[in-house]
Amino acid sequence: TMACLTAMDAGDTLGAFVHKTPEIALEQARAADARLQAGGAPDLCGIPLGIKDLFCTKGVPSQAASNILAGFKPEYESTVTAKLFDAGAVMLGKLNMDEFAMGSSNESSCYGPVVNPWRSDDRELSPGGSSGGSAAAVAGDLCLAATGTDTGGSIRQPAAFCGIVGIKPTYGRVSRWGIIAYASSLDQAGPMTKSVRDAAILLGAMAGHDPKDSTSADLPVPDFEAALTGDIRGKKIGIPREYRVAGMRPEIQKIWDKGAEMLRDAGAEIVEVSLPHTKYALPAYYVIAPAEASSNLARYDGVRYGHRAKLAAGDGITEMYEKTRAEGFGAEVQRRVMIGTYVLSAGFYDAYYNRARKVRALIKRDFEQAFAAGVDAILTPATPTPAFGLGEMSSADPVEMYLNDVFTVTLNLAGLPGVSVPVGLDADGLPLGLQLIGRPWEEGELLNHAYVLE
Ligand code: GLN
Repeated sequence: TMACLTAMDAGDTLGAFVHKTPEIALEQARAADARLQAGGAPDLCGIPLGIKDLFCTKGVPSQAASNILAGFKPEYESTVTAKLFDAGAVMLGKLNMDEFAMGSSNESSCYGPVVNPWRSDDRELSPGGSSGGSAAAVAGDLCLAATGTDTGGSIRQPAAFCGIVGIKPTYGRVSRWGIIAYASSLDQAGPMTKSVRDAAILLGAMAGHDPKDSTSADLPVPDFEAALTGDIRGKKIGIPREYRVAGMRPEIQKIWDKGAEMLRDAGAEIVEVSLPHTKYALPAYYVIAPAEASSNLARYDGVRYGHRAKLAAGDGITEMYEKTRAEGFGAEVQRRVMIGTYVLSAGFYDAYYNRARKVRALIKRDFEQAFAAGVDAILTPATPTPAFGLGEMSSADPVEMYLNDVFTVTLNLAGLPGVSVPVGLDADGLPLGLQLIGRPWEEGELLNHAYVLE
């Protein structure tokens, strides 16, 4: 813990931590020492973690990197952080992210961007997003592991950009209680770690049924670490034809081929599969996610939490809402709220939201058919590009950024688990990641495949 606290201060230039909690860390570390001395201490005893700012942490600022939550200190602890602390983990502080987890570059944060610890020449690179602070803090050795959340790729894409491991579990595996909501039918929390083994251990500690989240599954949590045997002989790995998207960089294709070869060398059979509705995933996601976000973000009205605008004489409640939300939300969040309310409006509901829901069902069916045909896991790239430069995307067309999520959003729509694992470097020495997609509730088997790629 002491070493991480020092590293955290030395790593300030990355902008990964937005709120440090050294007093809490030291107190938890002392308690962990006592448990270790008493014997029989749990796995995470004394392990220093960074916590994404989307998790409510009791008495500690939890702002989802938004000005609208300025000064908000929750009265309660999220289920995930409570479980981690019960298992002995230590909180170093809160980690930067895109505002309300909306973004793929960590540039929409009210705290400013995060710098990727990996560099190419003198260009400062984005760590990806929305869990950019988590990925950078782990890759930059500021903490041993971090929590992330993933609505459309926010664990897997930054993990790929920063050369670390990140897993989004099956929807319902991890409780969403106390995690500030973005799109509730897509959001899942998961660990971001330096190794597949760490991911297995942390996921085991985070997962489990929680009566406080009605979508959390009442299923036992298997021993994910025990699943890491490295034995994948006879397993069938699907390569989805539709993921060979136009404009994919040659280095991405190369790493994808290399990953398939590694799995084949370990005794798996590689087969081509078809997921025919893939091309509709991004448009469906960018209707459903903003629709749910517009509803979830309606609660930030200047009354219940955080920021309230200064009012002029004669201003009423409507002006209070308008001014508060205009000041409190950044541009990307405002864009999503407007898209969301538009696609949910009476005149357009059928044309957009309802149609997107139908597409979502077809995407889910594509995966079900592939798994029913005997495929054990599906291998794809995690991202269509390596880390891009800071500022390269943000000012341009927002759709350009949305396209970076092309490989990751499909499994949130289908509720499936997915893991991103670093598999090599490109010609500039930047990390490239592959994604494995697994059957629902089989995160152990999924991690075992990732273990072979590591
Ligand atoms: N980049 C995607 C978005 O902006 C995914 C974000 C996430 O998974 N939280 O919606």
